[in-house]
Amino acid sequence: MMNRLSMLLILLLLVACTTTAPRQQEGGITFVHLNDTYRVGAVEDGKAGGFSRVVTLVRELQDQGRDVRILHGGDFLYPSLESQLWNGLQMVDAMNFMDDIAPLYAVSGNHEFDRRKPDHVIAAVRASRFDWLGDNYRLNTGADDVDAALRQAFTFQSGDKTVGVFALLLAPVDGGNKRDYLEYDDDYVAVAEKTIAGLEARGVDLIIGVTHLDMWTDVEIAGLKARHPKLAFIVGGHEHEPEYSPGTEMSAIVMKGASNARVIWAIDVDFDVDGRATLRERKVTLDENVALDAEYEVLSNKWRARLLEKFPFLEARIGTAALPLDGREVAVRNAETNWGNFIADQMRSAFGEPAEFAFINGGTLRIDDFVEDDILFEDIGRTFGFSSFLRQTTLTGAEFRKVLEAGYRGFGPSKGYFPQVSGFRVCVDRSRNEFDRIVSLQVPAGERWVEIIDEQEYRVVVPDFLYRGGDGYDIPQDRPATPPGSELKYLVLDGILRAQAAGEEIGAPVDPRNPRYFELEESEQPCFVAY
Ligand SMILES: [Zn+2]
Repeated sequence: MMNRLSMLLILLLLVACTTTAPRQQEGGITFVHLNDTYRVGAVEDGKAGGFSRVVTLVRELQDQGRDVRILHGGDFLYPSLESQLWNGLQMVDAMNFMDDIAPLYAVSGNHEFDRRKPDHVIAAVRASRFDWLGDNYRLNTGADDVDAALRQAFTFQSGDKTVGVFALLLAPVDGGNKRDYLEYDDDYVAVAEKTIAGLEARGVDLIIGVTHLDMWTDVEIAGLKARHPKLAFIVGGHEHEPEYSPGTEMSAIVMKGASNARVIWAIDVDFDVDGRATLRERKVTLDENVALDAEYEVLSNKWRARLLEKFPFLEARIGTAALPLDGREVAVRNAETNWGNFIADQMRSAFGEPAEFAFINGGTLRIDDFVEDDILFEDIGRTFGFSSFLRQTTLTGAEFRKVLEAGYRGFGPSKGYFPQVSGFRVCVDRSRNEFDRIVSLQVPAGERWVEIIDEQEYRVVVPDFLYRGGDGYDIPQDRPATPPGSELKYLVLDGILRAQAAGEEIGAPVDPRNPRYFELEESEQPCFVAY
């Protein structure tokens, strides 16, 4: 009797299982998402990130029967050492290679439009085999074929399913590039909803977003899922570190990867027989455990050879690092680093007698790597992906403090505006309101440190970009200031060569007992306590 009952229970359970488990259709879609990539090759001596490892992952997924689509969240043409020579055509070549393996859809990032004239954008779009997407901006380059190439309310087929894609780019009001050949709509949520409604009307099975926006804007757009349930996820760029906002009934998932494909996302979408999509998203770290793709390496080596042809001195040794100098974006955009310190220190003497203060936005330092052992000319070329001319102005202590608050605004990690500094030390409480976070700003006085004097005037060296209000810094323009001069790249090169001639190594450790940047973990904690 008992046996029969348990048999019956088991049978009931089996029936329950087969009816509740979604019956999947064969071979779903896997989206592979990356963003903010500036290199044809990998970073950290080839050990981390890079398209080659992305290709390996894509091929593995295809071998498992997945329909792989590659999504790129923007920022690839500029800035880099190579883009100074080829204006991003080396990246287009690399992305075309990926597109040949699995279709690649890219939204433009702000850096695609770093050039004031449209010529190089025209060349890049014409050279692209992958799709350029954009719903809130239009190209008016004057080249009709290029302007028409930008896809709006894009859809693609996978088996019998249609996927709709909307794509949005940061407008100038939020830090995007203002250009004569670009027209923007900065009402992102409205454009997204209009595009989504259009895609729904066309009967698509799934809707996704590919964006180049600030994370909080993406999260706001993700809320459209409450009214548009087919909206499954948004993947984006612009931030250079992984970001994740989980999905609910009311909100789509938002994901971003780390720069240079150090960390990417793989998102499986499978449809059950009733057409309902199930998602499985996972963050994938591309390190030495992921093999390089032999075929891609041929392309990568081709561009390396071309680069050395143009700059045979690139691998020349110009100095020696005393310790690994940290130029990784995760470091220079979040905290004090020894490489940032060395550069900011050089800046102070850009105009003769050293200025009291200098600072530079971490986002100007583009190497995203360590500079170790032998310092090569290439390390300088990669650190400064674009020319950066300096200016010296004079500010009162009170003004300086106000200017610097902009460097500690906002929430979350990885801000390109985070400053690397020289000549002072600053203590910040991030739990306080924006623009009121500097708890203490101190300057040296003999052996001691004292609070900056509000009325006193200090000479300050900054990149011209920041002087003109870039990255949200509001520097008074009514003071005598030098014209833009002294290119930072050569100043740093000169600093290294002089040290080398004097038999000195470059770099000093960040001193935990006397940091230039100190972040309070709790408000009651004191600033700058030596231990
Ligand atoms: Zn960007």
